[in-house]
Amino acid sequence: MEPFILAGTNWKTLKDQRIDLAVLPWGATEAHNYHLPFATDNIMVDKIAQESARKAWSKGARPIVLPLIPFGVNTGQMDIVLNINMNPSTQFAILNDVTDVLNRHEIYKFMILNGHGGNDFKQMIRELGLKYPKMFICGCNWYQSFDNTEFFENSGGHADEMETSIMQYLVPELLLPLSEAGEGKSKKFRIKALNEKWAWAERRWSQVTTDTGIGDPSKATPEKGEKCFNEIIKKVSDLILELSEADINNMYE
Ligand SMILES: [Zn+2]
Repeated sequence: MEPFILAGTNWKTLKDQRIDLAVLPWGATEAHNYHLPFATDNIMVDKIAQESARKAWSKGARPIVLPLIPFGVNTGQMDIVLNINMNPSTQFAILNDVTDVLNRHEIYKFMILNGHGGNDFKQMIRELGLKYPKMFICGCNWYQSFDNTEFFENSGGHADEMETSIMQYLVPELLLPLSEAGEGKSKKFRIKALNEKWAWAERRWSQVTTDTGIGDPSKATPEKGEKCFNEIIKKVSDLILELSEADINNMYE
């Protein structure tokens, strides 16, 4: 039994346990090229939450990892079979209910650990902050916590070398061999500013890539995945520790 994972603990243990911070892992259910499972984002974000919480706990932090939310924003992919879209407004309703519970139980520090590029909680956090002024709510995209070029030759962001390597390390039994993977080639916008990212529009996924992947996975290895995973755990566990220890009424220096 792990006291920092809500799904596996019990009330007897929890009712007298100090809780510094709640961590909510949030993923997506979507196609990841031909070779990775639909739960790729969920598996990775859940493992990262649990292993980071374990490490922070061993250093004295008292986080609690909430059960994962498995559906993300996939509005641009509705022509890909069983990519399950959860609209941002639904996500806000869920966050509101979870925040309400935390607030009632005086668990005032809350981190949403996000594992899917289509999810964007920033504006929701602003709105929740207004509604629950005692809460400190923070978002973290684990995939932005490290420099991709330090670990991998090719980048892309979806079912790419990084995601494939980490999945090869974590759950090799759930992957098809790399010989089954598509090349992960993607098209760019014709409009320059959209590629430079200072203008933004959603991409119609199936017009951008034929195998649903963005980024060439062919150089992925479990060894690369392990190195990168360990770096992510180091970063995210440090964040959990710092948030656990933080005085939310004295956050600035
Ligand atoms: Zn993914």
